[in-house]
Amino acid sequence: MTNISFPEPTITQVSKPFWDKIDLQEFYLQQCEDCQKWIFYPRAHCPHCFGEELLWKKASGSGTLKSWSIVHRAGHPAWQEKTPYAVGIVELLEGPSLLTHLIIDQEQLRYQLPVTISYEKLGDRYLPFFKKKGD
Ligand SMILES: [Zn+2]
Repeated sequence: MTNISFPEPTITQVSKPFWDKIDLQEFYLQQCEDCQKWIFYPRAHCPHCFGEELLWKKASGSGTLKSWSIVHRAGHPAWQEKTPYAVGIVELLEGPSLLTHLIIDQEQLRYQLPVTISYEKLGDRYLPFFKKKGD
């Protein structure tokens, strides 16, 4: 089989601080200085109050599982050898939700399962996956 590399995340000027922290195995989110709400994905303006002063702050990296799906046929050939795998939506303790890869046995997946971040190296960079809390 040919060596196909995993697709890299698309990093913009706005999202670069997020990915720089992930590379250091740290989880930072933006918080709005005006309304104090936490924000994900990274943006230039607060989606709640349109404030422009968004500060990067260390976040818990914990949350609960809101929804998931088992992938049998990957959207990119590099991921095909990893199938079947789980992806899901994690509701972070700070409020926002994020779509992520789950490192959780399929039979343990359940609604509101407590989860925590796990930095997984794929190719040259770390990616923010989530695992069962306590594992
Ligand atoms: Zn705001």
